[in-house]
Amino acid sequence: MRPPTRLLCYVLLLLLLNACAAQNPVPTTPIPIKSSATSLPLTPSLAAATVQLDATPTKSPVSPTVQPPSLTPTPTNPINQPTQYEISAELDYYQHRLSVEEQIAYTNNTSEPLPNLMLIIEPARYPNVFILNRIAWGDGEPILDYTRDIAYLRIPLEPDLQPNDSVELQLSYDLLLPSPSPSYYGRPVPFGYSSRQTNLVDWYPFIPPYVPGQGWWVNEAGYFGEHLVYESADFEVHIRLSDTGSELVIAASSPAEIEGDWHHYQLKAARNFVWSVSDQYVLTTTTVDSVAVLGYYFAANARAGEAALQTTAEALDLYNDLFGPYPRRSLSVVEADFLDGMEYDGLFFLSKGFYNLYSGGPADYLTAIAAHETAHQWWYSAVANDQALEPWLDEALSTYSERLYYENIHPQGLDWWWTYRVHYYQPGGWVDGSIYNPEGFRAYRDAIYLNGALFLEDLRDLVGDDPFFHFLSAYTTKYTHQIVTADRFFDLLDDFTEQDITPLLERYFQHR
Ligand SMILES: [Zn+2]
Repeated sequence: MRPPTRLLCYVLLLLLLNACAAQNPVPTTPIPIKSSATSLPLTPSLAAATVQLDATPTKSPVSPTVQPPSLTPTPTNPINQPTQYEISAELDYYQHRLSVEEQIAYTNNTSEPLPNLMLIIEPARYPNVFILNRIAWGDGEPILDYTRDIAYLRIPLEPDLQPNDSVELQLSYDLLLPSPSPSYYGRPVPFGYSSRQTNLVDWYPFIPPYVPGQGWWVNEAGYFGEHLVYESADFEVHIRLSDTGSELVIAASSPAEIEGDWHHYQLKAARNFVWSVSDQYVLTTTTVDSVAVLGYYFAANARAGEAALQTTAEALDLYNDLFGPYPRRSLSVVEADFLDGMEYDGLFFLSKGFYNLYSGGPADYLTAIAAHETAHQWWYSAVANDQALEPWLDEALSTYSERLYYENIHPQGLDWWWTYRVHYYQPGGWVDGSIYNPEGFRAYRDAIYLNGALFLEDLRDLVGDDPFFHFLSAYTTKYTHQIVTADRFFDLLDDFTEQDITPLLERYFQHR
């Protein structure tokens, strides 16, 4: 079948932009550290696919290779005392500078003493962006004996932090925001500013999960895909804009309470807190039950902006019924001034490419990807996973959720979706591959997103609709706030079907 002209445009676009398949910048120059602390050599590592699970301060970069899922750590159990982040940030929008005071209260919820604390600092992957002014214990005593290697800062704990004991940190830092649009290191990334918006994603130091017997759950950045593993945590964020006289609008992971110049945000049991600022956003809103759905778009894309909002609301309503209730007070869909989409907790970015090419009907990538990103509020935010080593757990489920959206909301668009979203690419490849696929982005996307959706379709056909949807609902209920693995997915599935799924596993999975 000869694809229509619009499809050709999409195919070209899709070579550049993806549904939440972030391209990660890799620093090529050392990063300045304002501190008297001893630091590790700041050797650039070119997206090494190392999984650093040991508790030692050394890293061993290796060539990118496919990591078998057996390396995925056994997840931790539900968190008793989530990490508390209180962050005050002042943004000079037009000077692209953010000054931040951050306090972290961390409780050792694991079963073993911790010899050190790990902080992940994603902004430090960009040269000359993260300027650490001060790091101290909760009582104000400076921490001088930390070590730092690019995006990882490790603080020795003497004595070890015992199970159920807590520790507090204070950090003061500036972000000299990068301008990644249209790309950074040749790849589109959300973090930083363009002429139309500033995006603060993974913008603060945070503590990764800790796995007893294995160490901090940390992945190296890949050339594509997402590599972070987020523990559920509580956020209290205070934002002040220096440019109070301008028309700046803030989109964020949760609703704001405004007090004078300050915007106050609270977000509980979340994977992260993100925000985006623009002097050009047009805001459109609706509600689904008691949830406010907010759409932020640029004025030239009004029709697409309304469509993105509508799809997000419809998908939210549908997934509430299919998977379980969305737990937040708001969900924001933000037009991205970069050629990528990306999910975060309570907010996602949808590429301007989809807005610009929007056809006006539901058989359209804007609609499909808005449904996809909305699904990540379940398969990423509520139920998290190792995005680097087992990306199918969030990406295949979110892609398949697009199918559920079309099936239920726009059944007349379902054939289009199968034809142009999936079959056109003749997807193959192991569903349990990682982001470190040496064959490149296309092979990764086809295997994880598209073949992953075919696997879920075959699984549904095999076990039947009732067991399949009861399983998805139970999976959400059981693992909300946790980090799942494929083992947990299939162990729970066993409770809902007596069908032999071995032939399916042999067809789609390399390591099961
Ligand atoms: Zn996705």
